Amino acid sequence: MKLGAFELLPLLDRHFRLDGGAMFGVVPRTLWEKRNAPDDRNRITMAMRPLLVRPAKGPLMIIDAGAGEKMEPKLQEIYGFERSENLDASLAAAGVAAGDIEIVLASHLHFDHAGGFTARDGSGAVVPRFPNARYVISRGEWEDATHPHERNRASYFDENYVPLLDAGVVDFVDGDVEIIPGVRVRRTGGHTRYHHIIYIESGGQTAVFTADLIPTAAHVDVPWIMAYDLYPMETLEFKRAFVREAVENEYLILFEHDPQLPAGYIREKNNRLHVEPVS
Ligand SMILES: [Zn+2]
Repeated sequence: MKLGAFELLPLLDRHFRLDGGAMFGVVPRTLWEKRNAPDDRNRITMAMRPLLVRPAKGPLMIIDAGAGEKMEPKLQEIYGFERSENLDASLAAAGVAAGDIEIVLASHLHFDHAGGFTARDGSGAVVPRFPNARYVISRGEWEDATHPHERNRASYFDENYVPLLDAGVVDFVDGDVEIIPGVRVRRTGGHTRYHHIIYIESGGQTAVFTADLIPTAAHVDVPWIMAYDLYPMETLEFKRAFVREAVENEYLILFEHDPQLPAGYIREKNNRLHVEPVS
């Protein structure tokens, strides 16, 4: 996809499965199962879609990096990881080597976004997965990820990010800042206290990587909020304003977890929202 001076390429780091009820919060199953039918363990299929951002001039960037390959087999089974179509294959298909990536930008540090930030080397040591990259991470998210509590502990694994600090490749950011010209982060809160979405702006057009604010096209409706969110009322307020902004300004939305649809426009017709797919 072209967006002004940027080329945007949604990648894929496998499909996986999460509990359908947890994905839709207060929405009853009778409504959500029509959009995403659960399996016999009540899990729905999702995808992990990191975004490759290639500016006409400037550093090659990836936003998030999927779950990576370090997770124990038992957890991989619980989350229904499919073994095909991982990020390595997706990058190779795009003609990109891990060493080509210069900036890795994190929306937040949950395992399905940051697991792919590190990898095991031949000796079993955990090292940065992109050897020539700086990793740009919110300082507040880092603090929360390295001090988990009972409610978020299952999502945070030190091995996904602490080795980056040891390797001296982390650049912390505070607040809403520009990462490179045309790419900026905006704090949403809600899902985690310091969860970010990413705006890419060029030539009068805007694309937004909505991460876990709007993980799939089914989450465009304002009250369709994940039970995983730590601060759901923050999600509600941010999403209500953001969806309005996205409709009015025709933002291209990049859905990180949609099983089928990597990107689309949020449209409004007769007071109802829908997503117009883009391929
Ligand atoms: Zn996620």
